[in-house]
Amino acid sequence: MNVAVIGGGWAGLSAAVRLRQNGCTVTVFEASRTLGGRARRVQSPTLGASIDNGQHILLGAYTETLALMQELGLDSQTLLHRERLHLQSADGSFSLHARALPAPLNLLSAIIGARGLSISERLRLITIIQALKRQKWKTPPSQTVVQWLAQGRQSAHAIQLFWQPLCLAALNTPIQQACAQLFARVLQDSLGGPKAASDVLISRVDLSQLWPEQVVRYTPAKTAGQFEIRCGHAVRQLTCDASQVEVDGKAYDAVVVAGNAPATHRLLRQLSPSESGARYLNMLAALEYIPIATLTLQLKSAWRLPHAMLLLKDNPAKLQFGQWLFDCSTFMQSQAASPLLNIVISDARGLMEHEETAVIAAVIKQVQAQCSRFGAMPEVVKHELIIEKRATFAATPSLQRPPNRSPWPRVWVAGDWTDTGYPAVLEAAVRSGKAAALGIAGHTSQVAISAKD
Ligand SMILES: Cc1cc2nc3c(=O)[nH]c(=O)nc-3n(C[C@H](O)[C@H](O)[C@H](O)COP(=O)(O)OP(=O)(O)OC[C@H]3O[C@@H](n4cnc5c(N)ncnc54)[C@H](O)[C@@H]3O)c2cc1C
Repeated sequence: MNVAVIGGGWAGLSAAVRLRQNGCTVTVFEASRTLGGRARRVQSPTLGASIDNGQHILLGAYTETLALMQELGLDSQTLLHRERLHLQSADGSFSLHARALPAPLNLLSAIIGARGLSISERLRLITIIQALKRQKWKTPPSQTVVQWLAQGRQSAHAIQLFWQPLCLAALNTPIQQACAQLFARVLQDSLGGPKAASDVLISRVDLSQLWPEQVVRYTPAKTAGQFEIRCGHAVRQLTCDASQVEVDGKAYDAVVVAGNAPATHRLLRQLSPSESGARYLNMLAALEYIPIATLTLQLKSAWRLPHAMLLLKDNPAKLQFGQWLFDCSTFMQSQAASPLLNIVISDARGLMEHEETAVIAAVIKQVQAQCSRFGAMPEVVKHELIIEKRATFAATPSLQRPPNRSPWPRVWVAGDWTDTGYPAVLEAAVRSGKAAALGIAGHTSQVAISAKD
């Protein structure tokens, strides 16, 4: 079977790997010169270095991503820095540290021992998680995270210190708008899973190198077909009928469209109109997007921070938008000439209303002030601000997400925005790619069986 995959992000490449495992001949078309999509390496002329388009973290709960890396023969222990969940505010006012105990005691003891929350706040935190677990991690479909927190009697202080940053990091959507059910899914997989599920994993290499670029070398044991990746090829034309699909004029047996939602919409709307097709396109068009900004600072000299990941207190009124500070210098495989710090700003809509230089100056000031207990921050010699305008879809309640099987024959769809039950994260992208590939395999065998009948 000859399959085209449009998009060389984590979803498209995950589909490509699974299709190859099923013996398909696969051609991946990627518009950019670099594989990885929204999780990729970019060259920063300002810094004179390769950096990622945004700081990413993975979780121990990303089982499909880790399985995929294993399948590719990659050693995730070497490629990923792993640490137990450790939420620590830069100014020292809050910390929550998972212990080396079996689940759920690892997290229970972390909450009991959390610094910065009163005893009653810690008890309510345990109670709300236990209640969610009893409800089998289900919340009403239309509930927002803020409504769920109010129902669970969480204090404004606990929300500000713990829940708001966690929800923004996981869903890139503020608690007032975020879907409680999607948040519950993240909590289920991380806090409700085995001990290692809540571990934080950070790549020691750039995100393209982590596994997307390794797909090129992948030769599955039972492979039958050929494999080609065409970078720098933006697909413009897509047609399909009952017997084949055509991608830029070349015929294939099936296609996986794995662009982001707007790019996928542009391609699918070229296909023959139908009622179910229109419904599918409407679901895609209804998705809204929220930006994420990452500010990378190049320092004059090393500045050792006690943890790779520190929580910052943001204050948008003063343009202090920083939410998380990352110092990966101790475990990155290739060290940059000068130390780099990453500051992450989820839901960067507020930031985009201001002048960049003013925001950058304010965020640097914010980091200096909140990290003052670690000694004076060395001089910032250069900086780069990357704003990914369509970083993720807005994870709002009752969202209708398109399934991987499209209404058009031989056309499958993958992407973090498809109906995975996860928010827009790497694991969702990988799962969607696998689902599309398995769908093609299942559909083909069904067609073969009915042909025999
Ligand atoms: C700044 C930032 C920080 C993030 N942080 C995290 C995090 O910490 N943890 C986490 O789990 N997730 C995080 N995410 C989300 C994560 O990056 C995405 O969920 C994931 O990368 C989406 O992968 P995808 O393959 O579904 O889509 P994409 O990565 O968007 O891939 C689509 C690909 O299709 C290509 N394409 C589109 N149209 C065409 C065409 N016509 N022809 C050929 N190619 C085409 C595009 O160039 C792109 O490479 C973050 C995202 C951003 C932007």
